[in-house]
Amino acid sequence: MSGRRKPWRSRQRAAAAPVQPQESVPQPDSLIDDVGYNPERNQYLFWLTEEGYLVAQDITCQHEYVQRATCPHCGGKLKLMAHLNRAGQGLSEMVTICLGCRQRVIFIFDISNEVYQTWWAKQLGDLYVRQYDGPTRQPQEPG
Ligand SMILES: [Zn+2]
Repeated sequence: MSGRRKPWRSRQRAAAAPVQPQESVPQPDSLIDDVGYNPERNQYLFWLTEEGYLVAQDITCQHEYVQRATCPHCGGKLKLMAHLNRAGQGLSEMVTICLGCRQRVIFIFDISNEVYQTWWAKQLGDLYVRQYDGPTRQPQEPG
């Protein structure tokens, strides 16, 4: 019984919707700090696992580590290029490039550990799915 629907004609012109300046846009760093920090970090943070992966206990610490690290080739500053999700392997990979010699420097973090997974489960609540079902990697005594 209904007639044909009228074609939708009122396309908005871009100029009709000016972008409002937002008052307090969180900076990426503070956003990371708020949601990415685990207050339950322990002394094993940044220890190496047997496989040579850096123990990460939250997301923020990975950024902290990369920011503090320097190029192993020339000592230059590193710029983060990519953060690769390898959660299926219990890993998180940060790809950086040296601003000095332009070499790529890669950091691979272990996120299979209980501190990380417990924290991550808390962040996600019902959405949490353990993506890595291998054995939890163990930190090794440094030195
Ligand atoms: Zn370098």
